[in-house]
Amino acid sequence: MRDFVYNSQPSRVVFRAGALDQLGAEMERLGAHRALVLSTPEQRGSAEEVARRLGSRSAGIYDRAVMHVPLETADAARAVARDLNADCCVAVGGGSTIGLGKAIALTSELPILAIPTTFAGSEMTPIYGITAQGQKKTGRDARVLPKTVIYDPLLTLSLPARIAGPSGMNAIAHCVEALYAQDANPITSLMAEEGIRVLAASLPLVVTEADNVEAHADALYGAWLAGACLGNVGMALHHKLCHTLGGSYNLPHAETHTVVLPHVVQYNRDAAHEAMARISNALHGADPAGGLYDLARAIDAPLALKDLGMKEGALDEAARLATQNPYYNPRPVEQAALRQLLQNAWEGKRPG
Ligand code: NAD
Repeated sequence: MRDFVYNSQPSRVVFRAGALDQLGAEMERLGAHRALVLSTPEQRGSAEEVARRLGSRSAGIYDRAVMHVPLETADAARAVARDLNADCCVAVGGGSTIGLGKAIALTSELPILAIPTTFAGSEMTPIYGITAQGQKKTGRDARVLPKTVIYDPLLTLSLPARIAGPSGMNAIAHCVEALYAQDANPITSLMAEEGIRVLAASLPLVVTEADNVEAHADALYGAWLAGACLGNVGMALHHKLCHTLGGSYNLPHAETHTVVLPHVVQYNRDAAHEAMARISNALHGADPAGGLYDLARAIDAPLALKDLGMKEGALDEAARLATQNPYYNPRPVEQAALRQLLQNAWEGKRPG
């Protein structure tokens, strides 16, 4: 029997190749006049272009966003926003830059206009994370959900294949876990299956044809669906495990998701039949775990934790850390089985 609760997130989403043109109109709609533009140091050029388009509505640029939002970076950016008297943040970049915007919004309630340039999906979620003393703490707060999101596929054309591929697999991971979420509902399941289908079809083109706007638009559409899934329902073993590996062993975010995903799908395969059927459907009938592994291989993304710098000697501890606190997963999380999963992921074995 159907039994569910559905809450949609109240963001405004504008999706179009060239949608950056609409930035001024979207600022107007937000009622914002002094934007602090955020970026990583590497994307300073994009931030300058955004500031140029904002004209007198740009209060300044803060280009020091880095992975996992260190507290010192968040505090420095908050001080800049205050000093410039900013009334909104425009975050142009991936999850790291949007995460910095969320850290500012958390204490100031400044609205965020997000312009995502990867496929990570943070722009569609009320989830924030801040790292202090080596520990990343995450939480949910409605204040950090971007008010407006401009998806412009032209901005993803500059993504190098080595970032684009794992970033797309990170998005697929949100869709996969949404399908067997404890609070899954018919709408997110539709979005999740479509997200996997469109990302699996487009990523091989995205990583080989840098100027294929249609493929980039498909992948970004999949990223939007994936982010909406992540924002709407709870995640499970895969996200907990990647959080542990990233936080405790400093492994790169999207690449860790890419390596671990097929192994978690294999782990859960007999405990989530409907989810597995939908994943297989989205992969044109392929085995869910093997199909995701083959996709990662096809787009030349990492396949083994050992290639990400993980030491084999740390796997026992990682299995212990990941089973320390209980959390929902369709199959109970047992330390010995998880240790085997980690071994397989470390070696980069094809599941099944
Ligand atoms: P990222 O934001 O760290 O970007 C990776 C690199 O790619 C950076 O150097 C960036 O400057 C560069 N880059 C981004 N877009 C580019 C483009 N179009 N062209 C050229 N270079 C580009 O990577 P990410 O994977 O998007 O984000 C990872 C972070 O986001 C992690 O900290 C993760 O925990 C967080 N995240 C949070 C959520 C959430 O809901 N809160 C969701 C997903 C990810």
